[in-house]
Parts: sequence; C-alpha cells; structure tokens
Amino acid sequence: MTTKKKIFLSPPHMSGLEQDYVKHAFETNWVAPMGDNINDFEKDLQDFLGVDTYPVALNSGTSAIHLALILLGVSAGDEVLCQSFTFSASINPVVYQGGKPVFVDSESITWNMSPELLEIAIKDRISKHKKPKAIIAVHLYGMPYQADKINAIARQYEIPVIEDAAEALGSCYHGKPCGNLSDIGVLSFNGNKIITTSVGGALVVKDSKLKDNAIFLSNQAKDKATHYEHSQIGYNYRMSNVLAGIGRGQMKVLKNRVEARRNNFNFYKSELSKFAEITFLEEPENFKSNRWLTCITTESFDMRERIRLALEKENIESRPLWKPMHLQPVFKDCLSFTNGISEHLFETGLCLPSGSNLSQEDLGRIVGVISKTL
Ligand SMILES: *Cc1c(COP(=O)(O)O)cnc(C)c1O
Repeated sequence: MTTKKKIFLSPPHMSGLEQDYVKHAFETNWVAPMGDNINDFEKDLQDFLGVDTYPVALNSGTSAIHLALILLGVSAGDEVLCQSFTFSASINPVVYQGGKPVFVDSESITWNMSPELLEIAIKDRISKHKKPKAIIAVHLYGMPYQADKINAIARQYEIPVIEDAAEALGSCYHGKPCGNLSDIGVLSFNGNKIITTSVGGALVVKDSKLKDNAIFLSNQAKDKATHYEHSQIGYNYRMSNVLAGIGRGQMKVLKNRVEARRNNFNFYKSELSKFAEITFLEEPENFKSNRWLTCITTESFDMRERIRLALEKENIESRPLWKPMHLQPVFKDCLSFTNGISEHLFETGLCLPSGSNLSQEDLGRIVGVISKTL
C-alpha cells in the first residue's frame, strides 16, 4: 500500500530570501543574540505595526508574555484575568510569576474573550478585594478580539491588557494591526505560525524606555559596571541574530502569506458551506482575520471525529479546536467565569490544514475527503 503525501496542519513556508540574511550573520560573525538582523527585524516589525510601537525580538512568544507580566508588576498571589479559550502558553507565564489565572469564557461572534463576562469577572474580584493585576486577551486563530470593548472596560477599572497576538500577525481591527491594539502586544514566530524564525517571538511595547527595560531583563539584567553586577533577576530571552535573519526574509512575504491563508479559508467555505452541518466563523464588520487556521464547527462531537479520522486515514493532519484552559487538569483549581461557548467549540470544532504553501491539489484532496464523509 502506498501512503499518500502527508498534508500538515500549518508547516513553515520559507521564501528563499532568508538565507541571505542568515549568511550575513555568519559573514559578520554576529552569530549571537545581538547584531544587524535583530535591529533590522525589529525595524521591519515597527514599520508593519506602526510608528508608535517598539518591538523587542525575543526567543519565544511565551517569554514575551512572561516579560509582559514582569513589566506590569505581576507577582506572587496576584490574579490575572485570562481568556480561557487559548493555547496553554498564553497562561503558563502567569504561574511562572506565582500569579493566579482567573479564566473568562468566549463570545460567539469572535470566539475570543467575552466583554460582558470580563466585566462580571472584574466586578466579582474587586468585590472580594482581589482586583486583577492584568488581563490577557487573545486573537485566536487570527480573529481579532473586540478591542474597543475590552480596552474600554479595562480602562474603566484601570487594569492593563496584554494582547496575545501570537496567531494574529497580519490581522487588523478597524484598520489597525493586531499586536498594536492594547497596552502590551505579544507575537510568536514559532514554526507553525503565519511567519516563522523557527522559534522566536516579540514583545511590542509603546515607549522606548519600556523597550530598554525589556531588553535589559531579556539579557540577564546586567547593571552598568565593568564586572557583572546584578540588582534584579534576569532572563535569557533575547532572539538569536541568526534567527532574526530568517525573520527578515519572512517579513518580506508576510502580506502574501496572509493572502494565501485567506484564500484557503475562502476555498473551504465555497466548497463546504453547501453542507448545512458545517459552519465557518465570519468576520464581523471592520474585523480582518489573517485566517491563520481555517476552523469549522460541526453538528456534534461524533461528526467532528468522523471528519478528523477520515482525514487522518488519508494522511491529512487536522486538530480539534483548543481545549479551554478551565477544563485543563493543570488549571483545575483556578477560578473561572464560563458560559458554555468555548466548551461547545472544543466539542464540535476542527482546524483544517491551513499552510500558505498548500497546493490547489492538496486543497482538493482535503475537501474531497470531507465531502465524502458527509
Ligand atoms: C504559539 C502561541 C503562543 C506561544 O508562542 P511560542 O512562540 O510558541 O512560545 C502563545 N499564545 C498563543 C495563542 C499561541 O498560539
């Protein structure tokens, strides 16, 4: 039996331009977490996100969230309101700080943090004299959260918002890029994201002093002295100048990558929306998703599994939607404010292969298997 070519969920997609920048790092011997590529990659990110942003290239999105929490002063015992429907990396850094995640469920129009539940959660915590120290909201699968509403509530209660845009580089909300919508932004360039540095991430702050402080902390918190002097705990979180070279090449094609992923979504929708059992998440007016992953929801858990297993048999990778954090064993003791929406999405939803390098033939194969199953 011949096995068919494997189709991955979201593989890396190099442009061919990356190797010149990587070569430059070797030629100049800046094969370290400093050098031209890092500075230029940060400049590329700033050009994309806006002149009011100060991006800091780091070794992962997870470290970016960790530094964001440190910059906001989150420490032992502090509560942080977190979108429950997300990947665990959004939340783990809260625990690194000794903080307590408090989970907030999603709304159906974006699948992201429900502004109504957020306000209910804030009022509840304040009434118990446990005012949350920060909010972590996520643009899941590339769909922006309702930034106007979330930011307005956060401002009213004076709680800063960390914007987890790890999946949403290239998405916009009212014309403004995700990563520049709330107080501190977080990006990821992991291998499965819309562009990649193999591993990597960035923190996006809004003033140069905060950027200097983030770089200081990410590079072992070395005080100014001839010897190594430390008055704070530091981290080894800076991006490698070699990997920043990959990022430079990837930034050149970011717009194409967004277009390709949006085309995948449109193709799936045009081929599959004739099946009443399948639904797609539409963009509300003035929301633009990069469609990092195309997700469908089905009528039931059984139907979701039938589709997933049929794809697997044909060597096609798909994956259930994120399991909400308030259902994860590791967070079972955390407080949560729920409405059933993320649980229902987890039960019935599936991510389809969404790489920007999928061929028309691949897409045809995937749609063929799903159509046959239905
Ligand atoms: C990928 C991802 C992260 C973590 O980024 P890494 O670069 O893998 O550490 C955080 N949040 C979300 C929503 C992600 O998808």
